[in-house]
Amino acid sequence: MASLKLKNIYKRYAGGVTAVNDFNLDIEHNEFLVLVGPSGCGKTTTLRMIAGLEEISEGELYIGDKLVNDVAPKDRDIAMVFQNYALYPHMTVFDNMAFGLKLRKTPKDEIKKRVNEAAKILDIEHLLDRKPKALSGGQRQRVALGRAIVREPKVFLMDEPLSNLDAKLRVQMRTEIGRLHNRLNTTFIYVTHDQTEAMTMGTRIVVMKDGYIQQVDSPTSLYDRPCNQFVATFIGSPQMNLVNAVLTQRGNDLHLVFGKSDIKIPEGKAKKLEGTDYIGKEVILGIRPENIHDEAMYLESMSDSIVEAHVDLVEMLGAETFLYMIIEGATATTTARVNARSKTKTGDVIKVAFDANKIHLFDKETERTII
Ligand code: ATP
Repeated sequence: MASLKLKNIYKRYAGGVTAVNDFNLDIEHNEFLVLVGPSGCGKTTTLRMIAGLEEISEGELYIGDKLVNDVAPKDRDIAMVFQNYALYPHMTVFDNMAFGLKLRKTPKDEIKKRVNEAAKILDIEHLLDRKPKALSGGQRQRVALGRAIVREPKVFLMDEPLSNLDAKLRVQMRTEIGRLHNRLNTTFIYVTHDQTEAMTMGTRIVVMKDGYIQQVDSPTSLYDRPCNQFVATFIGSPQMNLVNAVLTQRGNDLHLVFGKSDIKIPEGKAKKLEGTDYIGKEVILGIRPENIHDEAMYLESMSDSIVEAHVDLVEMLGAETFLYMIIEGATATTTARVNARSKTKTGDVIKVAFDANKIHLFDKETERTII
């Protein structure tokens, strides 16, 4: 069983950079855990501490029940797949995959069996005699995965393994790695800066920023219930729209007011705001592009949350259309993801409906989620 425990882990580099701050996480056996965040947030450092390639400045790391802070990388029963594959150019695919096992003095027959099995799983049996330079990027990536598989590690660590592949191959390898995880029944920890990769691959996602964990959750929970403005805008593409709005009480109702726009907050959500300090103050309204509609039926059913918009650009993508709109009172362009057959054209001044049941509110100072 390969569970991991990271307890109050810090990484301080010489020169005063604290790359990882008080990282706490229990990772269960067989999880596909993804660490995601913008460049420099500390995800690679975290992975390298787990691998033993970077010393832990403070805190405890357990693999299974064993404290491994001072255990050498080769004795941690983990395998790491790197972004640049790190294959030996002068060796054949077979020898590249067999290398680690030879070092461990694994019997020849056993090496052959394991390499052949891994090659079969990855569909590279026909490439075993080739050298890396005679392989495509995707094939090299498979060899790098194969080299990790043959070691039969308890934990697989992957650092942006798909970033050198073109977009199409990346999508294909994404599913292959997912399948590999299902088949191997081991724990995967995967680092990426790409939120789509994180959302599609992870059973659980850790969102990091500036060395701190922001939120740990399933992909759906992150998307539906982000804990702050950073997570809300980092997860989802196109990103969530943000507008400064004043939370205004009118009679028994609460409204969000910006520019000429006025959105009535549905009762269920309004209840959560009753008695808080936010009433009468400016808050950040967040709404995802797919929750803004231009079709007549929505304009009718959502008549309490209609907003006037100037359409700056229409982008037809085939399966859907993006409207980039200027809305009075909003500082940035607002994006709507609407039906592919939308009649809206660039230059139109239209009414759109904000689905008020799907809005998010964030504190202007702390950027934490209010509702
Ligand atoms: P990227 O996606 O760009 O690889 P990351 O999230 O993986 O970023 P890390 O590589 O973990 O981020 O780096 C986290 C922080 O630690 C950064 O500010 C980086 O500059 C710093 N850092 C990384 N390695 C070292 C080092 N050897 N010495 C000093 N600072 C370092």
